[in-house]
Amino acid sequence: MSDKNEKHISISQKQKEKVDSGIARAQEERGIVLLITGNGKGKSTAGFGVVSRSVGHGYKAAVVQFIKGKWDCGERNLLERNGVPFSIMSTGFTWDTQDREADIAAAEEVWKDALQYLSDPQYHVVLLDELTYMLGFKYLEKQDVIDAIKNRPKEQSVVITGRGAVTELRELADTISDIQDTKHAYKSGIKARKGIDW
Ligand code: ATP
Ligand code: MG
Repeated sequence: MSDKNEKHISISQKQKEKVDSGIARAQEERGIVLLITGNGKGKSTAGFGVVSRSVGHGYKAAVVQFIKGKWDCGERNLLERNGVPFSIMSTGFTWDTQDREADIAAAEEVWKDALQYLSDPQYHVVLLDELTYMLGFKYLEKQDVIDAIKNRPKEQSVVITGRGAVTELRELADTISDIQDTKHAYKSGIKARKGIDW
């Protein structure tokens, strides 16, 4: 056997031992809090990916969209047909009108649905899409949100998406993915595309 090959085998063996011992150590069984944040594209799509994965295994999932954004949403069209309830902030988000009171009322209204999902053990996954902004702008009481997530059923996982997650959310999360904005088509003038961006 060549030296190069022997070296490769020894490196692979060490890597395998590391992976195996990691797997052996991870024994706790409980739902997790997955935070997908950062400025890059792919946070909501990843969140919906987790929901689809769960539904594909026959689990129940629920989605709360804290910023309505564009009315049309490909994932919603697909997942609602598969029995996933969606709760959407009724007035959307009034960036332009700057009607803070209306935004707070809308956030509180949809938060009631979130609370229901977060206390119902039949939901294996709850996606809180764009929740980070509700805390960043203080539209929802931070402690209430943290407590509700902490006190959820043991087997339930929560996926939170949005930019600029506050420290408390980062502390609460079991897994954090910071999606980096390395390059985005929009910045070279390419228009947002149906089926790709929503
Ligand atoms: P997606 O919904 O595509 O997964 P996202 O959830 O990571 O994106 P948001 O911050 O929620 O991103 O932004 C929503 C919209 O903005 C989407 O249409 C998305 O494609 C677009 N977008 C995301 N990241 C960027 C970026 N870095 N520059 C410009 N547009 C972006
Ligand atoms: Mg998003």
